[in-house]
Amino acid sequence: FGLKGCQKIRGPQIRSLLEAKDFFLFDCDGVLWHGENAVTGAAKVVNALIRHGKNVVFVTNNSTRPREKYVHKFCRLGFTDVALEQIFSSSYCSALYLRDVVKVRGQVFVIGCDGLRAELLEAGIPCLEEADDPDATIYNCPLAPDVKAVLVGHDDKLTFLKLAKASCYLRDPDCLFLATDTDPWHPLSGGRILPGSGSLTAALEVASGRKATVIGKPSRFMFECISSQFSGVDPAQCLMVGDRLETDMLFGSNCGLDTMLTLTGVSQIEDAQEYSNSDLTTNHSFVPNYVVDTIADFLPAFEE
Ligand code: PLP
Ligand code: CA
Repeated sequence: FGLKGCQKIRGPQIRSLLEAKDFFLFDCDGVLWHGENAVTGAAKVVNALIRHGKNVVFVTNNSTRPREKYVHKFCRLGFTDVALEQIFSSSYCSALYLRDVVKVRGQVFVIGCDGLRAELLEAGIPCLEEADDPDATIYNCPLAPDVKAVLVGHDDKLTFLKLAKASCYLRDPDCLFLATDTDPWHPLSGGRILPGSGSLTAALEVASGRKATVIGKPSRFMFECISSQFSGVDPAQCLMVGDRLETDMLFGSNCGLDTMLTLTGVSQIEDAQEYSNSDLTTNHSFVPNYVVDTIADFLPAFEE
């Protein structure tokens, strides 16, 4: 195992891969579910891995919910044995970064959903209260003097005023600039898409002339969070399973993990082959070690 080359694997090869690995990292949307619909068979697979004593964690760039809400979502969709400690979301890891890595002193200006602020508050990180009166503009609104970080995540209530305020805070070189993730867009049903937080981060990078520090995949930080909370995590024993080459496969590659692409989400096998055939060696970090149609293909491995 371990050679790159997007091989589609089946039956006995899946069985021996599952036997060889003891730590499984699953991306969520596109692998386990699409929005509120579970991928057929995914819950059975995850439940079986956990029952067989494998370590299983979830790595999601979706910053819109605190971890408790994920526990409920897992349960609702039939993933019955998932505990809070197994969930590594970009909002939770952003809170850990602010609290434990940079030990931020002062307030954080958050562009994001209420769930992101809830996760920060849970970790004891003060967020600026976002209650602008309707007549506020960038000409007359107050700016807080003690903002020490701007954190950008998915925000479905984004306003021009929020972008403008964030740009002002980022003028201070001592104010950190963080992004929960840099996902460009997310698929919706019916061919529609949602712009991802990467598009908001890009706007602020242009306005500030700065580069954001990325917390979520493909940055290594989520894996550092996992390693610090589970003892003895050996990258060689891990399998990263995801649906997007530019986030999940690159994340695995950045962390020294074997990677598996599932074809239930964003990336297609042709995209992987294109990266694989590219002369640019940096493109090879997007190439999965293994490809399956769906993680439901794991199911026969648990049958005697
Ligand atoms: N962020 C948002 C707002 C999303 O809606 C999604 C997927 O639907 C994601 C991130 C990506 O999540 P994941 O990393 O689990 O694929
Ligand atoms: Ca995904």
